[in-house]
Amino acid sequence: MLNIKENIYNIKENIKEVCYKINRNPEDIKIIAVTKTVDVDRIKFAIDCGVSSIGENKVQEILEKYDKIDKSIEWHMIGHLQTNKVKYIIDKVDMIHSLDSIKLAKEIEKRAAKISREIDVLIQINVANEESKFGIHPDDVYEFIDEMVRFKYIKVKGLMTIAPYAENPEEVRKYFKEMKSIFEQVNMKYCENYENIEMKYLSMGMTNDYLVAIEEGANIVRIGTGIFGKRNYNK
Ligand SMILES: *Cc1c(COP(=O)(O)O)cnc(C)c1O
Repeated sequence: MLNIKENIYNIKENIKEVCYKINRNPEDIKIIAVTKTVDVDRIKFAIDCGVSSIGENKVQEILEKYDKIDKSIEWHMIGHLQTNKVKYIIDKVDMIHSLDSIKLAKEIEKRAAKISREIDVLIQINVANEESKFGIHPDDVYEFIDEMVRFKYIKVKGLMTIAPYAENPEEVRKYFKEMKSIFEQVNMKYCENYENIEMKYLSMGMTNDYLVAIEEGANIVRIGTGIFGKRNYNK
């Protein structure tokens, strides 16, 4: 448990240091503690150490943990979301990072309308065009957002990506740069004209590459291993 405290402290210090270097305010970087496979006791300990946003990638895990976690904590759905599961989390999560199809958007809109709740979403971009990953191809982003402007309950708040894994995070810097460029272009093209499209959050960077992601413009980082240690999927 003590490691968790030290890990959080170190991550915040690293973020401060990199922000100082590039002249950004560390307060502007939101840290999401990724709690997949992490049990409730350890999540609570992390919350006591200052974590205020948690990220899960499975609906089932959100449902198992939701009632046991303090209501003031923000929940972020960061994993691929199946349309048939939207109804279970629509009243629980503060943001969905993984909007990756029109079909999913329609279902989110329908379920959100049903409970009259506006829902913040990020559009997931498959920036390296990897076979194994979900997300919109960078070339299709405008076409996709053109479809989003007609929704009432979906509030597009930015973009998210999962960079390819690389031992050396410098190798993925180019993908973060490309994300930032898409982010700025969408901002110019849509944000003045459409009330529900805002480019506020750029969610990119995980344990291995969050400092490079911040250097390239991320303002949400999603960190699991770096806080909780190696995940145990067998439990
Ligand atoms: C697991 C996960 C993370 C965190 O990964 P770490 O390398 O453990 O920091 C971030 N984002 C998504 C979408 C994830 O599924």
